[in-house]
Amino acid sequence: MQRGKILLVGFGPGAVEHMTFRAREAIEQAGVVIGYKTYINLVRHLCEGKVIQTSGMTEEVRRAKRAVDLAEQGRTVAVVSSGDAGVYGMAGLIFEVLKERDWDPATGVEVEVIPGASAANACAALVGAPLMHDYANISLSDLLTPWDVIARRIEAAAAADFVIALYNPTSVRRQQQIVECKEIISRHRAGRTPVAIVRSAYRPRQEITLTDLDHMLEYDMGMLATVIVGNSQTFVHRGYMVTPRGYASKYELDGDGSGQAVRPGQRPGHALAAEAGGVDV
Ligand code: SAH
Repeated sequence: MQRGKILLVGFGPGAVEHMTFRAREAIEQAGVVIGYKTYINLVRHLCEGKVIQTSGMTEEVRRAKRAVDLAEQGRTVAVVSSGDAGVYGMAGLIFEVLKERDWDPATGVEVEVIPGASAANACAALVGAPLMHDYANISLSDLLTPWDVIARRIEAAAAADFVIALYNPTSVRRQQQIVECKEIISRHRAGRTPVAIVRSAYRPRQEITLTDLDHMLEYDMGMLATVIVGNSQTFVHRGYMVTPRGYASKYELDGDGSGQAVRPGQRPGHALAAEAGGVDV
């Protein structure tokens, strides 16, 4: 029997232009495509002639077991997640199911994880460069993680001045977590800290809002939004949200563009020409 294969595909935020070449190829290569209905609809044009298995939102475990069953029967199965399959996607669960079955990659089904642009990356690209420095992804969904664990992580990320990308900010039934989340972050960060709310990035109903910590709760979020809260250095300039990497404290950013370093003890803006330094970008 032919060895089966599981392709764990992250197809990016939605639009086909933002799917990687390998993600597209993997879906085309698969005999069976499995995923949550909305996601399958986003890639349906690639699924002609394939067995498609859609399922609802809370049926991940069933979907994962089904994918492993089919691969064990020798099929090539693509399990699709939006964004990156390894970021609140199906990749981890598939490995957990395989582990339960004492999977051995040397003899068992083949597994390939195909990276995709996660919502944080996609939403960041739409508003500028807010994730330029250290950042934390936090999902506010307490379906699988107790709220006190989530709250502790928000507190830690806020206290350590991480930029924070909030996944699953609210849902129809879950409106209180974002309120508490904002309160926790506000204990560590100024009310004017820039906040981006991006809904349906790179999908037809895309909506982008730039606001701040004090006012973020005045806007609709929902399950299709990602919220990016800046750190203490993040600024908005002419509609773009940017977290500086730190160049301005070390180099002169205006002037002739030679990018010279500021000498120790010297203030930015008073550097001499002699110290041009290579900077990787
Ligand atoms: N694996 C996905 C995340 C799945 S969790 C990834 O890597 O992006 C679902 C959450 O992801 C949503 O609640 C939302 O916060 C975010 N999300 C997914 N697609 C999005 C999009 N196109 N625009 C904005 N947020 C998105």
